[in-house]
Amino acid sequence: MTRPRIVIVGAGFGGLFAAQALSRVAAEVTIVDRHNYHLFQPLLYQVATAGLPPSDVAWPIRSILRRQRNATVLLGEVVAVDVARKLIDLGSRSLSFDYLVVATGSTHSYFGHEDWRPFAPGLKSIDDATRIRGHILRAFEAAEMETDAARRERLLRFVIVGAGPTGVELAGTIAELARFTLAADFRRIDPRSAKIVLVEAGPRVLAAFKEPQSAYALRSLEKLGVEVRLNMAVTACDERGVSLGAERLDSATVIWAAGVAASPVGRWLGAPTDRAGRVLVEPDLSTGGHVFVIGDAASVTLPDGRRVPGVAPAAKQQGRYVASVIAARIEGRPAPGPFVYRDPGNLATIGRKRAVIEFPFITLRGLLAWWLWGFAHIYFLVGVPSPVVVSLRWLWEYLTYGRGARLITGQEHAD
Ligand SMILES: Cc1cc2nc3c(=O)[nH]c(=O)nc-3n(C[C@H](O)[C@H](O)[C@H](O)COP(=O)(O)OP(=O)(O)OC[C@H]3O[C@@H](n4cnc5c(N)ncnc54)[C@H](O)[C@@H]3O)c2cc1C
Repeated sequence: MTRPRIVIVGAGFGGLFAAQALSRVAAEVTIVDRHNYHLFQPLLYQVATAGLPPSDVAWPIRSILRRQRNATVLLGEVVAVDVARKLIDLGSRSLSFDYLVVATGSTHSYFGHEDWRPFAPGLKSIDDATRIRGHILRAFEAAEMETDAARRERLLRFVIVGAGPTGVELAGTIAELARFTLAADFRRIDPRSAKIVLVEAGPRVLAAFKEPQSAYALRSLEKLGVEVRLNMAVTACDERGVSLGAERLDSATVIWAAGVAASPVGRWLGAPTDRAGRVLVEPDLSTGGHVFVIGDAASVTLPDGRRVPGVAPAAKQQGRYVASVIAARIEGRPAPGPFVYRDPGNLATIGRKRAVIEFPFITLRGLLAWWLWGFAHIYFLVGVPSPVVVSLRWLWEYLTYGRGARLITGQEHAD
């Protein structure tokens, strides 16, 4: 008798955890991703700011799953799904399934201004991070050569749009890069004169945290020299910089850290979605049959009306949960109850010494929070191939203010 075919699209947190949780199930598990790596997104900003090399935050999916005998890894981009015929379309070929788990994550939303994307890249993949890293470093290089004061100012202004955890982490780290790491490296410019502007349409930074933590993050950013512009929306964005209403900010480096849009899963499945394009799933995370959507691509409402946030722990828990639902169906056992989210809390770091933490049992701000943030991430890294190497590299950088991965790659120009 042939074993059931389970196809998982996406090897992010949700897809990978689902695949691993299916290791003992008598089924053929195929995991398809358009990249050959699993990416630890919470540390991606470290690659974009030259703190860590890409290989410290991403690992080949094939090597992570190499001991799992029932799992096959395929490199390919899914472009459509035929739910009725149980086929996924990989462009040049198709793949059939008995159960499908879609875990394709999310992308940035430019709020209807897709034309801004080329001028304000978002941070989502290794390619994005190395491109942003090159852009930041090239801006300092070009400023060193520039003789015109206005053009130099534009090169040394870095605008980050969106003050969620990623925007705050980027702004704090770029400020430290300019103020400490690069301070002594240039002769004609003073990197410390760089302006880092964090633009937020809402009234506070880190809006997912409680007010005292937001206020602390704001003060910490300002101490690092970051100019935080609250209640300001970007109204235009082009190759010269951004407009905030009537105000113009000329900048050679604009980074987009605002807005989330799901990948086109709703269209593929013909399923209803919320306004951000996330598929509205049933309490068992299915779309009603043998197709499941998890992680950032799904909109999950809990029985008490709360919506599950788009964070790594939620995707992991959903991955494990759908594996248990599928295993129960294959093995003829009763289905588990509806998905329940255990919220482990929120953490964000602001530069190299400060962080904010809201765990269910404790709230912390400052240096101790920073160390806990560091330990939490090392703990999350357990299970990936090189947690010790990454931890040691962090510690070294912490002690030396170094940013060892300061390499410019690719051909783009800063101006
Ligand atoms: C910069 C950044 C920092 C973050 N920091 C934190 C943090 O500190 N803490 C936290 O909890 N969360 C953080 N998050 C959010 C967290 O990373 C996501 O919630 C989580 O990764 C969602 O998991 P997922 O499996 O749904 O999607 P992802 O992890 O995004 O994985 C999606 C996978 O699907 C693949 N894929 C997409 N489309 C296709 C296709 N058409 N065909 C084939 N493959 C496809 C992608 O290549 C990717 O591997 C951060 C996110 C970002 C971008």
